[in-house]
Amino acid sequence: NPPLDVAKIRADFPVLQTRTPSGQPLIYLDNAASTQHPNCVLDAMNTCYREYYSNVHRGIHALSEASTEAYEKARQQVADFLCATSTHEVIFTAGTTAAINTVARTWGDQNLSAGDVILLLISEHHANIVPWHQLAERTGCKVEFISLDDDYLITDDAVASALQNHQPKLFAFGAASNTLGTEYPVQRWTTMAHDAGATVLIDAAQAAPHAPIDVTQWDADFLVFSGHKVCGPTGIGVLWGREDLLDQMPPFLGGGGMIQTVTTEGFTTHALPEKFEAGTPPIVEAIGLGAAVEYLQSIGLENIHQHERALGAKADAGLRDIDGVRVIGPTPEHKGGINSFTVEGIHAHDVSQFLDSRGVAVRAGHHCTMPLHHALNVTATSRASCYLYNTMEEVDVFLQAVADVRNRFAKRGRRRLSRKSRS
Ligand code: PMP
Repeated sequence: NPPLDVAKIRADFPVLQTRTPSGQPLIYLDNAASTQHPNCVLDAMNTCYREYYSNVHRGIHALSEASTEAYEKARQQVADFLCATSTHEVIFTAGTTAAINTVARTWGDQNLSAGDVILLLISEHHANIVPWHQLAERTGCKVEFISLDDDYLITDDAVASALQNHQPKLFAFGAASNTLGTEYPVQRWTTMAHDAGATVLIDAAQAAPHAPIDVTQWDADFLVFSGHKVCGPTGIGVLWGREDLLDQMPPFLGGGGMIQTVTTEGFTTHALPEKFEAGTPPIVEAIGLGAAVEYLQSIGLENIHQHERALGAKADAGLRDIDGVRVIGPTPEHKGGINSFTVEGIHAHDVSQFLDSRGVAVRAGHHCTMPLHHALNVTATSRASCYLYNTMEEVDVFLQAVADVRNRFAKRGRRRLSRKSRS
């Protein structure tokens, strides 16, 4: 694949032309939390608001027809992005969290009961843990986790034996870990889970932005992701599900839009996808998401993936070279552009604050993966996550800042010590 024209890509993102409050060029390495927006996304949303905004589906007037057409075009754009066979399988939600909760409250309540098992990875985001804990509280089912090995990896053998031991009804896993950066072999594990009789939910929040997705080839049952991590807006995400599964599931939220008829006695539900889209949907956000996935596809997900892997590998190697830095994640061949790390003797928040003073935006904390941090016996990590618009030069600035943070705090520590010894 040809390398990305990063300079051209960067010109598409207005925020990357700005400077930080301290006057530095912005080096945005917090993409695993949320990504920035290209002009085409901002323009698509702005044009809708300025020129043809209206509520969808209900009005027989020109604006409503234009909005409905754009909203349904976005559904088609997402279906294409996922290689889905039908737009009926694409449900717009508020995000990954809302999508997983929808599955837990509908498919979960319908299909799980006391003693049944939901199998997860220890690296799951809280969004793919808490809804299952809540389901366990409601039904008496159990949540089990697959642990990491000493190389921060989960082997096929570990998955096979967990499937064998627990006979789960559902295997729900993140296609890529938002903390470790690991990219898991989705298609292989899905086949293994199906062979063991489990339904599979793929949390693609950290996969959809970075590499091609093919729900048909992957033979997934459910797949979810968020708009704001694929250069789209917040407030929009996707629940993709196999049509026969979605058809059998009861609706989640009740209200306008999801019904066929309502009487004083009850209601009947609309067909897919409206059955799961109660109330006025995030219309403009969906239009923005449609523009975002089309933008990523125009650049090529495989090209983006290669670029991020190269950035991630450089950051990984550089971090491992700095004294006192521990990379919390596997070696580069197993991961994309995410690197979490600790700096000996310095809290992750202090690391981030220092990097911020150099214009480098990273995240610090548990990254909504507390069970993983607990298993690794670390309270907090700093996380640098790259995207299509980041450059090798930015990674250099980031690495220099991490090296400097260590020197800075070491000096401060020495000063403090010498003050103490004087007094
Ligand atoms: N799963 C993973 C792997 C994530 O990284 C995130 C966001 N950090 C989520 C789920 C939750 O996504 P959202 O907050 O957009 O619902």
